[in-house]
Amino acid sequence: MEYRRMGRTGLQLSALSFGSWVTFSKQIDDAISDRLMGIAYDHGVNFFDNAEVYALGESEKMMGRVLKNKNWDRTSYTISSKVFFGWRGKENKPNQTGLSRKHIVEACHEALQRLQTDYLDLYLCHRPDKNAPIEEVVTTMNTLIQQGKILYWGTSEWSAAEIMEAHMVAKDLNLIAPSVEQPQYNLFERQKMEVDYLSIFRNIGMGTTIWSPLASGLLSGKYNNGIPEGSRLAIEGFEWLKDRTLSEERFTRVAELAKIAAALNTSVATLSIAWCLCNPNVSTAILGATKEAQLLENLKALEVYATLTPEILEQIEACMQTKPIAPSF
Ligand code: NDP
Repeated sequence: MEYRRMGRTGLQLSALSFGSWVTFSKQIDDAISDRLMGIAYDHGVNFFDNAEVYALGESEKMMGRVLKNKNWDRTSYTISSKVFFGWRGKENKPNQTGLSRKHIVEACHEALQRLQTDYLDLYLCHRPDKNAPIEEVVTTMNTLIQQGKILYWGTSEWSAAEIMEAHMVAKDLNLIAPSVEQPQYNLFERQKMEVDYLSIFRNIGMGTTIWSPLASGLLSGKYNNGIPEGSRLAIEGFEWLKDRTLSEERFTRVAELAKIAAALNTSVATLSIAWCLCNPNVSTAILGATKEAQLLENLKALEVYATLTPEILEQIEACMQTKPIAPSF
């Protein structure tokens, strides 16, 4: 495994990590999540990602049970939770979602209980909250750090301007600023990581824990000939994700990318994840998997990443045609 510093912090995250969105509790049970987390850990994965909203709290409970059962040295891995969406779904009342001091603190306490841990290594604001003053968010996160309940705080899918504002407020008040952002990043979603955040990478040195490196599985090629039964995009209630993810044009690109992968003697999933690791601003790419075979295939990305030459990366660009136009500084 390769370990990367999370931005300018001292924390080292495994370049590949493991997350539980959709899968834990909705698709896989305790036995499979135990097996998958075990495989990840044995391959050197030291970061496990979660959120209050995943399976409405059940994902954190499942991960908590697995971690308790594994009894790994707590200092050998890191875990996250994310606050914003609440976990009561349609029952959410005011103050049970968002980034008020009340919800951030209560959600932290609930995550600690569900995950059966004394502290979260990372605690992220899952989305920006237009209704909560940024001073309230920054001071609350700083307090949780002082209390030892969280070690680092960050954001997910915030704009560069919002992240910068949080930094300026933290600087003004002499408080601890967010040090990590969790954006989507894959061969189809590149704008934020490759354009919007360039100034914050340069000026603040945010780390990133990037999500959906396979665009929910699309970049494995599994959707090219229809939607396989039991796959994520076949799940009832995820039609919004299916509509957002699948298109004929994307199938064509994935089919072409598969040819490059075949020439490299690897799979299109492994190659797609390896490609993410080539961006030096990626601290860790969070993998998702419902099966052992998927996880083992995805973990091979580290080996393939080491073999990707500038020429191969150019071939990938020519095939995908998804490179966003970056501003010239
Ligand atoms: P991916 O884009 O890698 O999708 C993972 C899914 O794709 C798997 O669950 C599986 O679904 C399928 N898959 C994975 N590997 C293979 C393979 N080799 N061959 C075929 N199918 C495969 O990542 P996720 O979207 O799961 O995101 C990873 C993590 O990022 C999440 O668990 C979560 O922790 C985090 N995240 C954060 C978000 C945020 O807003 N901050 C949003 C989304 C995710 P199946 O078998 O069901 O088809």
